[in-house]
Amino acid sequence: MDITYWNKDIETMDRSAIEALQVKRLRELVDQSLKTEFYKKRLSRAGITSADDIQSLDDLRRLPFNVKDDLRQNFPTGLLAVDMRQVVRVHSSSGTTGIPTVIYLTQQDMDNWTNLIARSIVATGCCQDDVFQNMMTYGLFTGGLGLHYGAERVGMTVIPVGGGNTQRQVQIMKDFKTTVLHVTPSYLLHIHSKLENFNTEPNDLYLKKAFLGAEPYSENTCLKLEELYGIDAYNSYGLSEMNGPGVAFECVYKQDMHVWEDAYILEIIDPETGESLPDGEKGEVVLTNLVRSAMPLFRYRTRDLAFVHPEPCPCGRTHRRLSRILGRTDDMLIINGVNVFPSQIEEVVMAVPEVGTNYLIHLSKQGTLDRLTVKVEIYAKMFTGNMKELDALKKKITEKLRASITINPHVELHEPGALPHSEGKAKRVFDEREQL
Ligand code: ADP
Ligand code: ZN
Repeated sequence: MDITYWNKDIETMDRSAIEALQVKRLRELVDQSLKTEFYKKRLSRAGITSADDIQSLDDLRRLPFNVKDDLRQNFPTGLLAVDMRQVVRVHSSSGTTGIPTVIYLTQQDMDNWTNLIARSIVATGCCQDDVFQNMMTYGLFTGGLGLHYGAERVGMTVIPVGGGNTQRQVQIMKDFKTTVLHVTPSYLLHIHSKLENFNTEPNDLYLKKAFLGAEPYSENTCLKLEELYGIDAYNSYGLSEMNGPGVAFECVYKQDMHVWEDAYILEIIDPETGESLPDGEKGEVVLTNLVRSAMPLFRYRTRDLAFVHPEPCPCGRTHRRLSRILGRTDDMLIINGVNVFPSQIEEVVMAVPEVGTNYLIHLSKQGTLDRLTVKVEIYAKMFTGNMKELDALKKKITEKLRASITINPHVELHEPGALPHSEGKAKRVFDEREQL
């Protein structure tokens, strides 16, 4: 396999060098944080009053965690550590789980971020020969502009189309012979369901790769997309609090995402106790951004659940790899007392070959019990008028789900395009149970 690096020295640094750099940058981060009243108070309560309180990586644990609410409470400028005149960019989160939060970047911060994205893109084997169609929303959301700048830095031909307007997206893919997409997995599934309407087959396109991220998706969705389009799909992880995309990205081996550890400190903690977990154990991802001065943020609890791969990657990069995001601590559903993550349901339905490109999870009350309905779109070719076949399919999906989540779901089969879809982050869970 051909391995190219954006910055080989950094990407293949040995562990001790990475850790030494992390300590140096963590010290700078503490100094920078102390410029804000909020952190000054919070850090002094933890006994930290200067960078000298950080001597080794273990001292990281002395720093308190930060959570989304801290950012909200400090809205709009409470966590700003530089003069606003130095700020060249403002972004905010998409607000999936409430009021959005804001982040600020200086020119240097922008440069650091752009380099991380360029590094990520090159790790997937992309180069100047590629035509890059960015289908992520441009604007305050970090997915659009973040990748845009990195792709330009790599020298790819960048098409800043943004999200939505499927027909136009397909036309642009053909006109400009797009080779690489950046898109949410749910939207790429949706585009596939529309290709026929535009007299297009995946073979008419020139696609080689897709960067998929911004929302949780299962391994089976990834495999399905690779097969439907004949492409390689690379998982891309980030969150606006950590700048956006470019925190972790899959390399050509597509075996989970390298976290750029010169720029981020990764911890996995037990979400209940806050204790650090060893590599390999599943828990909440906690991140410290080491290369942003406008708005320092350390030990940020992402609420995303994942684990770290302890084994080295054959690509030679020494930065540890993070598994697929297995869910968010706040998206767990409790259905008749059983804990279920939407990702478990997705994993099952997307492995059923007859299932098309969209599904929804619906929760309601039936008497005192919760009722789980899983609505799936199935390929048009399944609607032959043979009810027996449809019933058998429904039964098959019901049984596979029951085996996985131990709850008996009600499965509905729908025609392609019948379920609502989104062009950015998908909303697939509709919970209509009474909130007590
Ligand atoms: P919001 O929290 O409002 O959605 P962001 O736009 O910053 O704000 O989205 C970041 C979140 O998106 C992450 O915390 C994670 O839950 C999700 N996410 C981003 N990339 C991925 C990915 N590759 N796989 C799964 N989830 C992802
Ligand atoms: Zn690798």
